[in-house]
Amino acid sequence: MISSIKDCTKLNNGLEMPWLGFGVFLVDPGEETELAVKRALDAGYRSIDTAAIYENEAGVGKAIQESGIPREDIFITTKLWNADQGYDSALKAFDESMKKLRIEVLDLYLIHWPVVGRYLDSWKALEKLYKDGRVKAIGLSNFQIHHIQDILDISEVVPTVNQVEFHPRLRQIDLHNFCIENQIQLQAWAPLAQGKALDIPELVKLGEKHGKSPAQILIRWDLQLQVLTIPKSITPHRIIENCQVFDFELSDEDMAVIESLNRDERVGPDPDNFDF
Ligand code: NDP
Repeated sequence: MISSIKDCTKLNNGLEMPWLGFGVFLVDPGEETELAVKRALDAGYRSIDTAAIYENEAGVGKAIQESGIPREDIFITTKLWNADQGYDSALKAFDESMKKLRIEVLDLYLIHWPVVGRYLDSWKALEKLYKDGRVKAIGLSNFQIHHIQDILDISEVVPTVNQVEFHPRLRQIDLHNFCIENQIQLQAWAPLAQGKALDIPELVKLGEKHGKSPAQILIRWDLQLQVLTIPKSITPHRIIENCQVFDFELSDEDMAVIESLNRDERVGPDPDNFDF
């Protein structure tokens, strides 16, 4: 059972990664990011999820450096943006991200979206970065089963993680099972459906039963499904609330209630049909 914010999963290459992390999508570059990341670190989060396209890697890097927490105690994920996909361009984009993050070695680098015609070359670049010791783990984001299969067909290094939209309205059961079978750790983005899941009556009721908020119920659900999760908030009390999820447990019945909420409904783009 996952019982502390320090608890980690072991990725398929042996690297430990905290189950619960902190996301910074749509957090303004600069001061807002620095403050949010500092608050998250103070609250005990030790995994931060950013991306080149969020344009806030520099704020993440500054906050981490100024926190005084040893670099090796913090797990940093960033992502290769679509416009930079391809072999040489991916290597260059990685260098730029590292400069902004002010670090020498990254923990996890993900291909942000499966850009058709380019993600295989991008994967080869990530494999080079991994073999050169510049990143401790490499993975995917927004990859459907058929995209992952393409990668597995050509890869020398099996992806460690697939970060996808995942919440009760989008349970992604087939993708989840495929990832489990292939030892690829699933990670939830928009674990709160970007706030849209929080007034679902069943979740409100489960919250009342456990003395927790619907957000805490959802984060706990991810953890009990052994899905990595990275809720985002810039609100100080929510940053703390979202990590107070280790003092209760959802029963099998509770889990089944949440499982019944799936509608295959996305809040974000469809990975098989996006134009950016
Ligand atoms: P989330 O599901 O984490 O929801 C964030 C929203 O919920 C914000 O509006 C936040 O408001 C609100 N919120 C947070 N906590 C609470 C709470 N306890 N009670 C009520 N409202 C709450 O959505 P994200 O899209 O941000 O996903 C999380 C992370 O996943 C991102 O930050 C990013 O790191 C990653 N991501 C990855 C993507 C990818 O393509 N790989 C795509 C999208 C996200 P407020 O901040 O105002 O408190």
